[in-house]
Amino acid sequence: MQGDLPGAPGDSCPAVSHPLLKRQLDSSTVIEDQSRADERSVRTAPSRQDIERDFEKLIEQRKLFGAELNPTIIKKSGKGTRFLISAVPSRAKLLKRWAILFRNAISPCALFEALSARTHEFEHRENLLLFGKDRVIYDTQILQGEESIGELTLSFASLADPMLGVLAYLKGARLRIVYIEHIHLTTQRSGYASTLFRYYERLFRDLGFNQFRLSAALSVGKYYWAQEGFDFSDKSEIGRRKGDLRALIKERSLPVREVEIGRLNHAYDFARFKRDLRIFAYRNAEGFYSLKRDEHFREEVSLPLGKAFLLSSAKWEGYKTIYTNTPRRTGFVTSSEYLLHRTRAGHPENPGRLRTLLRAVRKHGLRSSLVFLEPYLPDLEFLEGIHEAEYLARFRESVRSGAKEYSTRDCSICPASFEIALLAAGGVMAGVDAVLNGRVDNVFCAVRPPGHHAGRGSTMGFCFINNIAVGAIYARTVYGVERIFILDWDVHHGNGTQEIFEEDPMTYYCSIHEHPTFCFPGTGRRMERGTGAGTGATLNLPLKPHAGDEELMETFEKEVVPAIERFEPGLIMVSAGFDAHSWDPIADLDLTEKSFAYMTRRICELADRLCGGRIVSVLEGGYDGSSLASSAMVHLKMLQGRSQECSLERG
Ligand SMILES: [Zn+2]
Repeated sequence: MQGDLPGAPGDSCPAVSHPLLKRQLDSSTVIEDQSRADERSVRTAPSRQDIERDFEKLIEQRKLFGAELNPTIIKKSGKGTRFLISAVPSRAKLLKRWAILFRNAISPCALFEALSARTHEFEHRENLLLFGKDRVIYDTQILQGEESIGELTLSFASLADPMLGVLAYLKGARLRIVYIEHIHLTTQRSGYASTLFRYYERLFRDLGFNQFRLSAALSVGKYYWAQEGFDFSDKSEIGRRKGDLRALIKERSLPVREVEIGRLNHAYDFARFKRDLRIFAYRNAEGFYSLKRDEHFREEVSLPLGKAFLLSSAKWEGYKTIYTNTPRRTGFVTSSEYLLHRTRAGHPENPGRLRTLLRAVRKHGLRSSLVFLEPYLPDLEFLEGIHEAEYLARFRESVRSGAKEYSTRDCSICPASFEIALLAAGGVMAGVDAVLNGRVDNVFCAVRPPGHHAGRGSTMGFCFINNIAVGAIYARTVYGVERIFILDWDVHHGNGTQEIFEEDPMTYYCSIHEHPTFCFPGTGRRMERGTGAGTGATLNLPLKPHAGDEELMETFEKEVVPAIERFEPGLIMVSAGFDAHSWDPIADLDLTEKSFAYMTRRICELADRLCGGRIVSVLEGGYDGSSLASSAMVHLKMLQGRSQECSLERG
C-alpha cells in the first residue's frame, strides 16, 4: 500500500449483513453473501461453556497465543515488530479479557471467523488471535489466490472515556476501541480495504465498539482514510492544516477564497476540497507524494487540490466514531464561543441555556456517537444577500460603541455579540456543508443567539441574524438545493423567517406556534399564506394556549405531513425551539418531550422518503434549562434513529 490505499469510495461495496451474531460458524464467512449470512444468524449470546470450548479449539489449532506488547522487550528482539508472540495465558485471564472487551456477546471462534471474512478473492491466512495484557490482537496475512498481497493487524482495547469525566470513570463507563495497528496492501485499487472496513464497521458496531483508531501514524493512505470519514485525532491539527493549505494557495496563486478554507471542519472536507481545481504534485518511486519536485519526487501528477494536499501532507493519527445503536450519523454543531454572547442579568436568553444543553449531551453519553462540527465565520458579503447591509453595519456599530442593546430592549448585546451572531449563522452553514456533502445524514446546530425573529432589516425577540434563513439560502446557492422546507416548531411564530421567504415559492415556511392573540410576536395567523409568487408556500398553524401533545400531533399529522409530502423538498430544515414545553416560563403551550420525539421521528421518515434523509435542525428558543435539555436530547436521539430509546408512540 502506498500513497493511496486501494479502493476509492464508490467501488463495488456489497450490502453486508451482520454475521457476527452467529453463534458458531462452520464455514468461512463470505462478505457478499447477504442472504446466506442472514439465514445462519442465530441471535443468542454464547454461554460461558461455548466461550471456553472455543478457546480450547483455537489453542489446539494453534490460532490463539499470548502476546508481549512491552516496547522495550519488542525492541530487543530487533525485528521492528509490533508484538511478540508468547505462551497462552491462563484460562482465567482469557475469560476475563474476553468479558471486558467483547462483553461475551460473541464466541471466540465466531469472532475469528467474522474477522477473516472472505471478500471477493481475498482471504486471510496465517491469522492469529493474541491476548496481550490489556488488549486482544488480530493479526493476519492477506492472500489473493496463492499470492500474499499484504497484512493487517487490529487490536481491541477498552479505555476510560476522558470526555466523560471522573464520575463516569467511577461508574465504569468505558470506550471500546478498535485500533488499526497496521495495514499493508500491495494490490492497488482493488476496493478491498473499502469493502473490508465498511463490513468491519458494521461488525464492531453490533459488538458495541465506539471507535476506530489508526494507531499507526498515517504515513500512507492519508487521502483514503479521510474519504472514509477518519478525522484527525488531535483536533488542533485542523488549524495547522488550514495554515499549510493557505501557504500552498498563496505560493501557487490559486483561485481559492479565505472563506472556503474557513469552512474546512474535518479531514473529510480536506479530501473533498476544490475537486474541480487541479494542481501538480510529485510522486517518488515508492508512490509517496510531495508538493515540491526534487531528485526523489520527480513524476509529475495532476490531482484535485484537496487530494494533492492530503497525499503530500505530514503524518497524522486518525479516528472514526462507530455509530453503536445509531442507524443515522448525526452531526452536532457547537462552539464554546457561543457562550461569549452575554445578555443583561436576568435575561432568559443567556449562555446558561447552552451550557445546560451541552451537559445533557455528556450525561446522556451522546458524545461518542455524534459527529462534532465547528462553526465558522461567514462572509459578510454573503449575509448581505439575506439581511440589509445597512442593518448589519448598524448592528456592528452598536456593538462597537459599547451599547447594551440593539434596537430593542429584548436584544441585549455585549462586545462579542456581533461576531457570535455571525458565528451562529456560520454554524448552520457548517451543518449544511456536512449534510450536503454527505459527511453526516442529519445535523443539529446548537447555536446562539437564536434567529427566527430577525427579518431582513430588523432585530427582534433575542434574534439578530436569521440563522436558518442564512442556512437555507446557503444550501441553495452553494449546493443547488432547489426546494427547501422549513418547519418551525418554536412556540413563537418565526416572523423573520416568514418575512424573508414570503415571496419565495421554492422555500416553504411552516410554523406551529401559540396563537398570536396570546403570544409574542403577534403574527402567524392562518390567513398569512405568503405573497406574490410565494402565495401558498407559507403555512401557519397556531395552537390555542395550553394545547398539549394530542393537539400538536393531530395538527402535525393533518397539516404538516401532507404539506411536506406535497412540496417534495430536497432538504428539510427545522427551527427547533423547545419553548413550547409545558415547563417553559415564557409561553403557554403544554407540550412534553413526547411531541418533540414524535415530530422528529416523522420528519426523519419523511426526509428518508423524500430527500435522502437530509435534515438540518437549528436551535431557536427554550428557556427552562431542564426541559430544554430533555427535549433536545430526545430530538437528538431520534435524529440518530435510536427509536428504541425513545419509542414514544402516539396516544
Ligand atoms: Zn421562541
